[in-house]
Amino acid sequence: MANSKYEYVRNFEQPDNLLPNTFVVVRIDGRGFTKLTTKYNFVKPNDRRALDLMNGAAEAVMKDLPDLVLAYGQSDEFSFVFHKDCMLFERRASKLVTTIVSTFTANYVLGWAKYFPDHPLTAPLPSFDGRAVCYPSNTNLRDYLSWRQADCHINNLYNTTFWALVQQGGLENRVAEKELSGTVSGDKNEILFKRFGINYNNEPDIFKKGSVLYRDFFPTSTQSSPTPAKSPIIHHPTPQSIARPMSQPLELTHHDLFRSSPASGTS
Ligand code: ATP
Ligand code: ATP
Ligand code: MG
Ligand code: MG
Ligand code: MG
Ligand code: MG
Repeated sequence: MANSKYEYVRNFEQPDNLLPNTFVVVRIDGRGFTKLTTKYNFVKPNDRRALDLMNGAAEAVMKDLPDLVLAYGQSDEFSFVFHKDCMLFERRASKLVTTIVSTFTANYVLGWAKYFPDHPLTAPLPSFDGRAVCYPSNTNLRDYLSWRQADCHINNLYNTTFWALVQQGGLENRVAEKELSGTVSGDKNEILFKRFGINYNNEPDIFKKGSVLYRDFFPTSTQSSPTPAKSPIIHHPTPQSIARPMSQPLELTHHDLFRSSPASGTS
């Protein structure tokens, strides 16, 4: 109803257009997944089915939104990167975030039965929150991704050690937690190796590093001047590491996201 007496309420809307010429990163995170993993008996510390489901939902999001160039996922989170000159929804944060969150959630719920055929979903259904952050430089974007990957590494080292103590060492959760409090990465590696014969380095990359999806702009290597692929190709690499994703129109080299080794935290 244009020009109606009600129209003025539109003025209550706040503009939320994001800074131009910056990478827009939308990070989504599962709501209350600590509880959800218990409810559906996720394998601890890492349920591969759940990671594959996350990756499948992320792939669907990237196929739906051609402005996305890269996505990084670990645990119950995924970060989606829009290219710098993306003008989708006039860069309105609420529209970008809600579209990603709802597309991801819809595909997560749709894909559930494929990965958990014996555990049908019941209310409360899985849901995700989301936020958008702008990163102006390649370095900032790379550091952002390194930050998320460092989080993956630190949590995974802790969780792998914790569950080894519980599942193989027969410790109570609380005892294992106490044993790990105040330890640094080296201590955890040693516990894993000396007590359980586990070399952390040999753990699957998908657990240690997370997953990267990126759009291949150069599907044919014979072209003299690189052009974006018309129908975007989604790579789903394992091992899931990639670096300097944005420094060139495209880089296909695979290595860690870290600029340097992650700090050995006490967590
Ligand atoms: P919030 O709503 O604040 O995000 P949360 O319970 O989801 O709360 P997170 O910090 O997001 O808290 O942690 C996610 C939890 O889900 C962690 O405990 C993590 O170990 C677990 N988790 C996520 N993915 C998997 C997986 N593939 N296998 C096993 N556990 C998983
Ligand atoms: P945008 O992505 O910009 O929102 P849109 O195509 O969704 O684009 P809207 O302005 O949201 O555009 O309009 C929604 C459309 O869906 C309208 O054409 C409306 O008539 C149609 N629609 C919504 N609900 C129903 C319904 N229950 N029955 C029939 N048509 C519907
Ligand atoms: Mg959260
Ligand atoms: Mg969560
Ligand atoms: Mg999380
Ligand atoms: Mg609509």
